[in-house]
Amino acid sequence: MGVVEQFLPGAGTYEQEGTIYSNFTGTAKIDLRNKRVTVVPNTRIPELPREGTTVLASVTHAQEKMATVSIWKINGKSLQNPFTAILHISSSSPRYERNMADVCKAGDIIRARVIDMTNRIPQLTTAGRGLGVVKAFCSSCGGILDFTTRRLQCPSCGNVERRRLAEDYGKTE
Ligand SMILES: [Zn+2]
Repeated sequence: MGVVEQFLPGAGTYEQEGTIYSNFTGTAKIDLRNKRVTVVPNTRIPELPREGTTVLASVTHAQEKMATVSIWKINGKSLQNPFTAILHISSSSPRYERNMADVCKAGDIIRARVIDMTNRIPQLTTAGRGLGVVKAFCSSCGGILDFTTRRLQCPSCGNVERRRLAEDYGKTE
């Protein structure tokens, strides 16, 4: 950042053998009047899934009774490193669902809430208000499914599918 002949090492810096170094990644601020250099860190506190937080996740794998998802947004904030989480069929819908294929499929994007963190892998629910699939893809051609006239249908090939949809399906970012 400089040498001690130019500046005094301020907050966020240290001096070694006459050279000033930064302690962390950040923005350097130079106070010319006092000839002091400081660093303001730009590292943010990472968002972590906690019980009660709302997340956006991509379904990576769907089996009959559970789906593995990858959380990439927590409380509206994008994550640098996605979290793996589990959605079990019993907490996937306010209705009794037998098969995850009626709830979500691999590739879909879901809005979910964290209900349990005790096994370190977050357990999710999509049964609550505003929760469920927010974007789904056609199993046959991969097109984005449209929800119109109470049917979830592919505009490209006409395929009709079933999901546990969020109330605002198709209207989110
Ligand atoms: Zn299609």
